[in-house]
Amino acid sequence: PPDKDELGRSTWTLLHSIAATYPVSPTPNEQSDIKAFMGLFAKLYPCWFCAEDFQRYMKKETVRAASRDEFGNWLCNAHNEVNKKLGKPIFDCNLWEERWRTGWKD
Ligand code: FAD
Repeated sequence: PPDKDELGRSTWTLLHSIAATYPVSPTPNEQSDIKAFMGLFAKLYPCWFCAEDFQRYMKKETVRAASRDEFGNWLCNAHNEVNKKLGKPIFDCNLWEERWRTGWKD
């Protein structure tokens, strides 16, 4: 099985890619789908102590998904919470779309 770092990297790639393709103007249905997905994701993530902390975070900071920008930033902040816990650098959330959707300009 993948170790928790490999699992983490692949999972963040999936989640940020979902944010990158999330509609700019989502319908109410699309908004409830992403919220349901994130809620189930947090329950099913196959690293139980990671999942527990993430569920706790999501209770405090409920998913915001009224637009791509809002969801992308919500997810970036959630990822930063994990970065902080692990002593990793905080990512500048103004750059999330460049990192995950449009690509770096350099
Ligand atoms: P990752 O954190 O995996 O990031 C991958 C890439 O995303 C980075 O290289 C960077 O380009 C980009 N990035 C970094 N920060 C952001 C951001 N804020 N927004 C957008 N893009 C960003 N590991 C544990 O040891 N303990 C835990 O409790 C734990 N909880 C986790 C909970 C969840 C929900 C997930 C998905 C993962 C969790 N992990 C946990 C794994 C951890 O977050 C990392 O994935 C792992 O440590 C590998 O880190 P990495 O340095 O390769 O970069």
